[in-house]
Amino acid sequence: TAPADLLVIDNLRGWYGESQALHGINLNVRRGETVTLLGRNGAGKTSTLRSIMGLLARREGSVKFSGSELIAASPDQIARRGIGYCPEERGIFAGLTVQENLVLPPIIKAGGMTLAEIHQLFPNLAERSTSPGTKLSGGEQQMLAIARILRTGADLLLLDEPTEGLAPVIIEQIGHAINKLKERGFTIILVEQNFNFAASVSERFYVIEDGRVVDHIAAAEVADPATVANIHSYLS
Ligand code: ATP
Repeated sequence: TAPADLLVIDNLRGWYGESQALHGINLNVRRGETVTLLGRNGAGKTSTLRSIMGLLARREGSVKFSGSELIAASPDQIARRGIGYCPEERGIFAGLTVQENLVLPPIIKAGGMTLAEIHQLFPNLAERSTSPGTKLSGGEQQMLAIARILRTGADLLLLDEPTEGLAPVIIEQIGHAINKLKERGFTIILVEQNFNFAASVSERFYVIEDGRVVDHIAAAEVADPATVANIHSYLS
């Protein structure tokens, strides 16, 4: 039997002040899946993640996580239910060490990774444990931003453009880490502009345009060059 849906989003609409950014997002994510949101700049990918976390000033529709309706919940309540958000800007505290950044988010429930497991996943972070946040490379900052939500016990990880601005060798390391997280059972929603990277870790893709889902593609279809050409037409 197919794994159950962990997240079901129905007709999600979201606003910044008077300006509506999301016009009815529908998507579902099964437990253990990695799903990528694709689309041009300004399509609404980041707004979808922020809206799942309850970070938009106003949202309507339905966001069901593990069977519970979260549309009226606060960002804090949503995080406590087990959703971890890694924003595009990474949000590393420059004045804190790697270790201090790592232990900052509170543990919300059992089942998160231990520090030893995190250090095994990201050996660079173990080496840089006492370095201040300011001294980290872009890749290390990205690793720390992901690492920080792995301790908390969150089951669903929202990762916004983790490969942005990183060198190919670092992108490969991030991809390797994401595949390890999948093996461990994390469910992931990824926002990506880098389709090749997304294809290397994802089971399914949703294409977003103008705050709506306009296409849905399974990883198996990506073997077809016509599908890939179609996806690139959505991104260019
Ligand atoms: P990008 O890759 O550039 O982040 P995106 O697909 O994630 O693109 P969003 O950032 O979600 O797109 O933006 C969706 C829409 O919401 C755009 O029209 C954008 O101008 C608008 N928007 C985003 N952030 C704000 C904000 N803080 N205030 C007002 N409008 C915003």
